[in-house]
Amino acid sequence: MDSYLARRVSLVDASAADEARSVAKGLLSNGHDVISLRDGEPQFDTPSNIKEAAWKALKAGRTKYGPTAGIAELRELICEKLFRENQINADSENVIVTPGAKFAVFLTFLTLLDEGDRVVLLDPSWISYSQGVKLAGAEAVRIRLAAEDGFRPDLDVIKEELDKRQVRLIVVNSPCNPTGTVFDKPTLSGIAKLARERGVWVLSDEIYEHLIYRGAHYSPGSEFDNVVTINGFSKPYAMTGWRIGYVTGPRMILNAMLKVCSHSVTCVPEFVQAAAVGALSDEASHRARDNMVRAYRERRDAMMSRIRASEFFDCTEPHGTFYSFPSYRLQMPSIGFSNMLLEEAHVATVPGVTFGECGEGHVRMQYTLTKERIIEAFERIEDVLRRR
Ligand code: PLP
Repeated sequence: MDSYLARRVSLVDASAADEARSVAKGLLSNGHDVISLRDGEPQFDTPSNIKEAAWKALKAGRTKYGPTAGIAELRELICEKLFRENQINADSENVIVTPGAKFAVFLTFLTLLDEGDRVVLLDPSWISYSQGVKLAGAEAVRIRLAAEDGFRPDLDVIKEELDKRQVRLIVVNSPCNPTGTVFDKPTLSGIAKLARERGVWVLSDEIYEHLIYRGAHYSPGSEFDNVVTINGFSKPYAMTGWRIGYVTGPRMILNAMLKVCSHSVTCVPEFVQAAAVGALSDEASHRARDNMVRAYRERRDAMMSRIRASEFFDCTEPHGTFYSFPSYRLQMPSIGFSNMLLEEAHVATVPGVTFGECGEGHVRMQYTLTKERIIEAFERIEDVLRRR
């Protein structure tokens, strides 16, 4: 029966993470203590004022279909936030609330790409970009970034790629998953300008904007009209399971996206949107967010001092996100290295190759866990590597 599957689905890679997750599950059910440096989500609980806002909405019976683009109150708050923090001038007609930033990324691909179109991705970059591009029938072309350059792109190389045939879109993600690089304003505005001159759209995924320890966030959508900006609540407010994000950009694109949403997801549940209203409007959630970011900074420092002291790893300091992306000094593929850490040290990581060829020789490790758990993870890892 496999032959009856659509071709677009067969093109998408099976997730190596799912396989590793089942190995971890097996270890856990056999009583092993697995430390997960793998998952891209905060270990903190959602701040209680946000949960209360959702609970209040549930009790008030806000459990019906709502407007496809999102409730007016939330869209207005998002516009205020975009203006205040990102200098993006959007009115609420220019905002769609989506079930997570991930869906907003996919929605952008579905709306802007035709069969055979090309999308420029930086390598390494978040895996869902390349897979989403394939699902939309387009082709990803990659620009290689090097650890020695702090995983920063060269504008001349970008220009060369944008000049190629049928390039429709370039994706930027700052701070970057997996490298933790924060791209500076000249780089991001340079990319947007080059793209604009060539009639190419820019997708700016800004989901980690609040998780910056050095440098400043810049939104190219503040200056350029060829930018679709995506953001969400998962990372800043520890709301990964709520599934809520948003997109803003040119009205023509948003109107087309609305058609896709109305025939697919319909709307984001209203009580989830009420929770997001709580996140944006209540000082308590901003305080909670800032406390979480402070904790990530300390945990990043704990992880980086272990990495620096290690004879097995090298790492460019991550200036944002909650990931480090060290290279290891062993001659083996990252999938094998990551599997070995899981099976022998009981520490879960993500193989660097998941994020593109330039990620080979690296592993991604998240640092949302407590310092004690991070230190223990490194003790176990070093122990295994020393015994080899
Ligand atoms: N964009 C990037 C770069 C991410 O790393 C992730 C999640 O890991 C997302 C988007 C998805 O966020 P959401 O939970 O809002 O779908």
